[in-house]
Amino acid sequence: MGHLTGFIDIQRENPAEQHPLERIKHWQEYQKPLSEDAIKLQASRCMDCGTPFCQIGSLINSSTSGCPLYNLIPEWNELAYQGKWLEAYQRLAKTNNFPEFTSRACPAPCEGSCTAGLPGQPVTIKSIEKAIIDRAFQEGWVNVKQPSKRTTKKIAIIGSGPAGLTAADDLNQLGHNVTVFEKDDRFGGLLMYGIPNMKIDKKYVERRIELLRKEGIVFKGNTHIGVDISLEELRKDYDAVLICTGADKPRELDITGRQLAGIHPAMEYLKESTKHHLNKQYIPSINAKDKKVIVIGGGDTGADCVATAIRQGCKSVVQFGKHGKLPPARSKTNPWPENPQVFTLDYAYEEAQSKFGMDPRQYFIQTKAFHGDKNGNVKSLETTSFLVDDQTESRFWEADLVLIAIGFDGVTDTFPNIEKKQNKISANDVDFKTNHDGIYTAGDARRGQSLIVWAMQEGKKAAQEINRYLYS
Ligand SMILES: Cc1cc2nc3c(=O)[nH]c(=O)nc-3n(C[C@H](O)[C@H](O)[C@H](O)COP(=O)(O)OP(=O)(O)OC[C@H]3O[C@@H](n4cnc5c(N)ncnc54)[C@H](O)[C@@H]3O)c2cc1C
Ligand code: SF4
Repeated sequence: MGHLTGFIDIQRENPAEQHPLERIKHWQEYQKPLSEDAIKLQASRCMDCGTPFCQIGSLINSSTSGCPLYNLIPEWNELAYQGKWLEAYQRLAKTNNFPEFTSRACPAPCEGSCTAGLPGQPVTIKSIEKAIIDRAFQEGWVNVKQPSKRTTKKIAIIGSGPAGLTAADDLNQLGHNVTVFEKDDRFGGLLMYGIPNMKIDKKYVERRIELLRKEGIVFKGNTHIGVDISLEELRKDYDAVLICTGADKPRELDITGRQLAGIHPAMEYLKESTKHHLNKQYIPSINAKDKKVIVIGGGDTGADCVATAIRQGCKSVVQFGKHGKLPPARSKTNPWPENPQVFTLDYAYEEAQSKFGMDPRQYFIQTKAFHGDKNGNVKSLETTSFLVDDQTESRFWEADLVLIAIGFDGVTDTFPNIEKKQNKISANDVDFKTNHDGIYTAGDARRGQSLIVWAMQEGKKAAQEINRYLYS
């Protein structure tokens, strides 16, 4: 256990952030790491309480509580408190293949169920995780690791997001010969072409891919399985196949005017933006510069669109959500250790507030129709707002760029012979088997759009199942 009364004597300290008006001038990460002494103090707040809900990783009331990777949080908190950074890293690496991604973009459900959060503020688990992994890279502890022996087994993994990469890493370390097929030009899935650079700098994704490549994993980009190579062909050439293709089918808004120019799925927009960021020669087909932007959808993808539009120099930005504003503190129906459903000012909203003087979120709004100009470009949106006492109000909003971020409808259909349910690939979360012998699935393709940590958990578990299958 850290400091005997650490959680009482020491206040939670979050990493400092660059001022929103400064950080919107660039696409780099904007959090400043806590000093080594500050991290030790923060780690000392962990009581090793004996009820470590922080590491249970389960769904309570449909929301994630605790770490789905079962990270050994109290153990590495203690090691960080003692300044034993190498040991802390070794502990972290036991359960988490890529802490450099989770410590940057995970919403930290571990903190939502930390016992110290009951009477006060939870331990800054995510910042401690980041300090450990960043130090490990700086010190050169994250090295190329070759498996001690190679088997003759060949495994194909379709999709290079966090699920595919985690499974590839574990299967490679077991000595198998792993090839990752990716339809895009770059690897990383949504780590590369979904989550903006401000949240995960793409240099970290590329650094990890390079390490995995050096460890023996073969990466084949620009290869669309189901189009360039059939799944059946792949299965013939490999001892097992794992489908980790994500859930990238955008949910549509089928209303009047949807065909107008200037209305796009959020992912198309975010991907174009990152492509341009990584290659300035690439001119994005969608750009928010000088535009009045409306984002439909109140979730995290919508927030990333807000932050991206601000950096591109939009004239204004508004985000529609169909739900109401969350309460400032947990309600009675949302007790610990459930994930707290409370109002927060995400990075994007802080930036909009600083730039335009208002939180861009509008609540209880439903879009009824898009209206266009004579050239077929979107000009305005017609909405209904739900007021108190079941009253509604209609309103028009000017816009010349609309981004639809209302979620995803499962997988894009490229494997007609693989069974699906509600447009997700059918398999349970115990054996991860599809209806075809030797073909497995994990991550968002199986569970629907989720979180990096869940994708990684599924990648790990599916890798174990495939290993078992290879020797059955
Ligand atoms: C905009 C956005 C922001 C997000 N932000 C966060 C966040 O901050 N924190 C968080 O925890 N989660 C976040 N998420 C969710 C998280 O990114 C996903 O849950 C996670 O990436 C899923 O991992 P995956 O490996 O299952 O699939 P993906 O990451 O979607 O990767 C699937 C890969 O498969 C490839 N592929 C698909 N079909 C084929 C095929 N037929 N052949 C070859 N390759 C194929 C795709 O090109 C893609 O690269 C975000 C999601 C979005 C959309
Ligand atoms: S991976 Fe996410 S849930 Fe797990 S310890 Fe890190 S921040 Fe918490």
